[in-house]
Amino acid sequence: MARINYVCTKCKYKFSRSQETAFKLCPYCGAQGSIGVDTQDSASRILNEVSGYDRMGED
Ligand SMILES: [Zn+2]
Repeated sequence: MARINYVCTKCKYKFSRSQETAFKLCPYCGAQGSIGVDTQDSASRILNEVSGYDRMGED
């Protein structure tokens, strides 16, 4: 069974579910309507964005 990678655009939590599984809420922060389908490429891009945000406060 195919598994889909999802990412919550609100808290950046990444997880995978089988394609058959339906859900509405982020399993981490519980946000509604913030779940997007992730890909390997965008996953690494999000990681870069997150580390970039962390550095913003230091400059
Ligand atoms: Zn979330």
